Amino acid sequence: MESIDKYCQSCAMPMNKPEDYGTNSDDSKNDDYCAYCYKNGEFTSEMTMEQMIEYSAPYMAEANEGMSEEQAKEQMHKFFPELKRWKK
Ligand SMILES: [Zn+2]
Repeated sequence: MESIDKYCQSCAMPMNKPEDYGTNSDDSKNDDYCAYCYKNGEFTSEMTMEQMIEYSAPYMAEANEGMSEEQAKEQMHKFFPELKRWKK
């Protein structure tokens, strides 16, 4: 069964369509990361969790009606440490 509410384990973007998924070095789809974060078996950019939160907050605020950028950051600080890429 494929889950419909998968999200990227790096930036938390929901991955609903096949083209949302990142690619492995053999061109197969990577299940964990989105196309923006992961390409050809590598992360597209090296950044810290903090930088990723800064970068992604405006998008998350935009995707969630009524959410401010500050609120988005607050939420992300709660669940980003659980994501595969940032888990220690
Ligand atoms: Zn991502």
